[in-house]
Amino acid sequence: MPTDHAIIIGASHAGAQLAVNLRQQGWSGAITLIGEEDCAPYQRPPLSKEYLAGTRSAEQLLIRPAELYGRHDITLLTGRRIDKIDRNAKRVIFNDGESLPYSKLALCTGARVRQIPIPGAELKGVHYLRTLADVQAIQQGVQAGMRALIVGGGYIGLETAASLRKLGVEVRVLEMMERVLQRVTAAPVSDFYTRIHREQGVTIELNCQVKAFEGSGRVERVRCQDGRVFEADLVIVGIGVVPNQELAAESGLEVANGIIVDQFCQTSDPAIVAAGDCTQHPNAFAEQAIRLESVPSAMEQAKCAALTLCDKPAPNHSLPWFWSDQYDLKLQIAGLNQGYDQVVLRGDPDNSSSFVAWYLKQGKLLAADCINRPKEFMVAKQLLTRGTTIDAAQLADEQIEPKSLLT
Ligand code: FAD
Repeated sequence: MPTDHAIIIGASHAGAQLAVNLRQQGWSGAITLIGEEDCAPYQRPPLSKEYLAGTRSAEQLLIRPAELYGRHDITLLTGRRIDKIDRNAKRVIFNDGESLPYSKLALCTGARVRQIPIPGAELKGVHYLRTLADVQAIQQGVQAGMRALIVGGGYIGLETAASLRKLGVEVRVLEMMERVLQRVTAAPVSDFYTRIHREQGVTIELNCQVKAFEGSGRVERVRCQDGRVFEADLVIVGIGVVPNQELAAESGLEVANGIIVDQFCQTSDPAIVAAGDCTQHPNAFAEQAIRLESVPSAMEQAKCAALTLCDKPAPNHSLPWFWSDQYDLKLQIAGLNQGYDQVVLRGDPDNSSSFVAWYLKQGKLLAADCINRPKEFMVAKQLLTRGTTIDAAQLADEQIEPKSLLT
């Protein structure tokens, strides 16, 4: 083993990107990419979309062809879990007791699903959706005409609802808040998605908190706090994720809501960086440290972390963005809308399937939700990167060409 050995824990979007970027940035030592899942790094976003709907195969999910890692002289260890980091000895320890030395370490441990702490959660037929294995387990039980109940009206829950409808499944979504997507969008966007899903035959129950899953051996019904009971053949819980930060915390690294890193993806240990869903990082657009759950953010942080490990530090100031596909709707989100005090609509969410919700704070643009509006999405990214102040009336005016908003 050469003296310079970079170990990356977590082989998904951030880890796979970091490994390749390390080589591209001139890292000449060994690189070992370690992931506990049994397969080469794959894209997670299609899991609730094309893969669940059956229009994309597992091979088409791979982030890079499996042999590419070897071509870059990257050792990919799948189905292996790291249980401990010995920072004094600079070694990572596998769950079977084996250990490996590192000179530099990258934590790309991502996030795991938040478990629902209610009776019956362990029943057969109750699923979560984070990994390829999760979706394969769901697919085994899916048949047209069966009744699926989705707990949580966030992006994952709604994408799952759309994909199951394509398979002819009867779908009911239970959301405990008063509207779907409440944490992440303004009311017109929530109302739009509620309308579209209902038009597609999905039943959406709002203000509905689940109390227990019931059934003998297998889930048969769901009981809610307000007494409502729904029959179900299949349950999918999508109530958020928690960062995989225990490994970092137990080794004495600073953690809060994620592993704390600076703008160079550096942790509190100079030999260790972290990237992706597992980090809490400073973000110029949020004006505070945040944790993001998005592929673009994981990729940008991975590039930044690779530069840091190669002694070419460059701060990560990338604009957050995200997307969600449901039916024939492509939602693209630029920026972060926390703290908005005004929502300006361009287009009609009540009678069309194409509009933009611009989020402003004291007249300054914070974010834009663009539904089937790729031109406005590109413009929003540029406006946000420039930090331009823009007249709300212009944002709303459909007569103004999107790119004219830039001038
Ligand atoms: P993760 O993808 O969580 O990967 C971390 C990896 O590390 C996992 O494979 C885990 O098993 C492994 N690991 C953890 N601890 C250890 C250990 N101790 N030893 C070894 N391995 C370990 N984002 C978007 O931007 N757009 C979307 O449309 C979108 N849709 C999504 C749909 C679904 C169904 C899901 C689940 C997510 C979606 N996301 C989407 C979010 C996106 O997938 C995540 O932001 C992204 O996967 C983060 O990548 P990551 O590498 O940081 O972490």
